[in-house]
Amino acid sequence: MKRNYVLSYKAENTNEPVIWRLIKDFDLQVNILRAKVSPGQEGSLLVEIDASEAATMDKALCWLEQQGIKCMGVAKRIFWEEKLCVDCGACTGVCFPAALAMDKTDWKLAMDLDRCTACGLCVKACPFGCFRLDFGD
Ligand code: SF4
Ligand code: SF4
Repeated sequence: MKRNYVLSYKAENTNEPVIWRLIKDFDLQVNILRAKVSPGQEGSLLVEIDASEAATMDKALCWLEQQGIKCMGVAKRIFWEEKLCVDCGACTGVCFPAALAMDKTDWKLAMDLDRCTACGLCVKACPFGCFRLDFGD
């Protein structure tokens, strides 16, 4: 199972080899997609985590929580105002991982936000300001 998560670091966590521990202790495949972490400051990491079993992922999430690191599926960090959307499709053209696409049955916007890489391009592309992204920026 492969999913994208945002890890939110406190200042005291930034000197710890958290990614190394996730790989070594939990046998996860971790791919860093975006990083905003500076030594001694709060920060965020967007990571793609591939776990062979859901139980392993649950243990890793529990361990992260014990370290004081919040871990949230990326889909919970992007907000969409459905009532403003006119299904123009402009956002789909900039969404590289295809988290946004037009549903070809009804030509309405369809989302698979677990694929989102928090690039923020849809925020700029939508002429109606439908999107907001919270990545600690
Ligand atoms: S932030 Fe980027 S990856 Fe995520 S939905 Fe928007 S365009 Fe797609
Ligand atoms: S660009 Fe905005 S209005 Fe157009 S489909 Fe995307 S969210 Fe809807």
